[in-house]
Amino acid sequence: MSGRKSNGGRGRHVSGSRAPVAALAGVPVAVGQVVECDIIGLTHDGEGVGRYEGYTLFVRGALPDERVRAEVSSIGKSFGRARTVKVLKVSSDRREAPCPIYDSCGGCQLQHFDYAAQLRWKRQHVISSLERIGKLKVSADDGDGDESSRTTEHSLVVVHPVIGMDKPWRYRNKAQVPIGSGEAGLIGGFYEQGSNDVVDMDACLIQQEENEALVRAVKSVARELGIPAYNRATGRGLLRHVVVRHAQATGQRMVVLVTNGLDIPYVDEWIGLIREQVPGLVSVCQNVNTAATPVVMGDVTRVLWGEEVIYDEIGDIRFAISPRSFFQVNPVQTERLYRAAVDYARLTGEETVIDAYCGIGTITLFLARYARRVYGVEIIPEAIEDARRNALLNDIRNAEFEVGAAEVVMPRWQSKGITPDVIVVDPPRKGCDPALIATMLELKPARIVYVSCDPSTLARDLRLLEDGGYRTVEVQPVDMFPHTGHVECVAWLVRD
Ligand code: SAH
Repeated sequence: MSGRKSNGGRGRHVSGSRAPVAALAGVPVAVGQVVECDIIGLTHDGEGVGRYEGYTLFVRGALPDERVRAEVSSIGKSFGRARTVKVLKVSSDRREAPCPIYDSCGGCQLQHFDYAAQLRWKRQHVISSLERIGKLKVSADDGDGDESSRTTEHSLVVVHPVIGMDKPWRYRNKAQVPIGSGEAGLIGGFYEQGSNDVVDMDACLIQQEENEALVRAVKSVARELGIPAYNRATGRGLLRHVVVRHAQATGQRMVVLVTNGLDIPYVDEWIGLIREQVPGLVSVCQNVNTAATPVVMGDVTRVLWGEEVIYDEIGDIRFAISPRSFFQVNPVQTERLYRAAVDYARLTGEETVIDAYCGIGTITLFLARYARRVYGVEIIPEAIEDARRNALLNDIRNAEFEVGAAEVVMPRWQSKGITPDVIVVDPPRKGCDPALIATMLELKPARIVYVSCDPSTLARDLRLLEDGGYRTVEVQPVDMFPHTGHVECVAWLVRD
């Protein structure tokens, strides 16, 4: 580093070894410039929020309360991005990331942040979203298990500490591994950050070991048999992805070979050799995807050997999982999330409940045990097929499912005289459709349970529900994805 100069601002400009390559009027930094700044927060992508002369920089690899030297990688009118060159003041929550490929992979963002600090930060992120976007008043008390704070008389929203994992590693039950070519032949692992190049990987610390062993076996047998890897640039080659699933409750395992065409050479040898190496294997499937798309699976799926589904359990409910079924990836935390949802539904066995955005009916079937009747609605037809099959599998007869957009189906149910006591919603990141919020306000259920994977859209929707006569009593965040910036929440609302 040569010729530093202080500019008297909150941050400090350090003229870097590389000359700035781009500048923007009114923005105090240029691309390529090296600056020093204090980190005052963390984005949900795990970047440190830095301030340099009043300008916001999202700094990769930096943590709150640190001061870093960072190289600016891009700039925009209201914020820019930078990458940490050196940590000048180190946070006491900084840890050595245990994963050797943490920096190049990008699958996790917070391994360098102490786990307890991750949980504190996620709770704070939920609180500030509720306050800033939802204009809600959050209780200052930490809501830590005190029964008195659980009464509906409380006018402030209680945001509980995040339910974390005792062992926040090896939690994922599903892996989707892209295949490519390396010097020694077929490889598989992950796409290098910001590129289409596959980097070989045999160990991922958030993946269940059962999946890792299966992927290793599939790769080594493919190499042995000379199966060609798919090439994204030319569209040639055969093996595109290896998708593996492990049902934690039953130990069953499934592998899906995603191929660029129907024919697989030496397919019987391949299956035989994989089965030899992986005793718990129950299902080998093929999915054909010939399109030049980043989407992993195509439309055609067939069983090559064994069963067409594997079975897993959440709580006492059994689920059949087919190659394309959506199923939560962290089984331990999923059960905790659903328990919180059922708890907030306050069911006595007499209620009518609607589960909007029901997927394969996971929450619906959980609720069915405690309600008179449950209705699930979901937009993907295959998911509803799974939901119905899962109801039969568990001999649950008080659940009814319908395919369609929740905002369309629910008014139809309303006109048929279905009046829910409780509505549960679990929408995708973009939150609830405004028409669905309007329908909920018309249906006037006594309680609404909102399961959310995005605190900002949750906060936005809670504001709409509050303005429509509901009060948010409690929010329980659950850490479904340790070492990433994601946080899932269950919010409990009552009609005022
Ligand atoms: N509750 C389920 C799934 C939640 S994911 C579980 O925990 O497993 C959100 C689901 O909403 C997805 O399955 C998605 O297909 C569905 N979805 C998205 N938009 C929808 C809409 N407008 N109406 C109904 N379902 C929708």
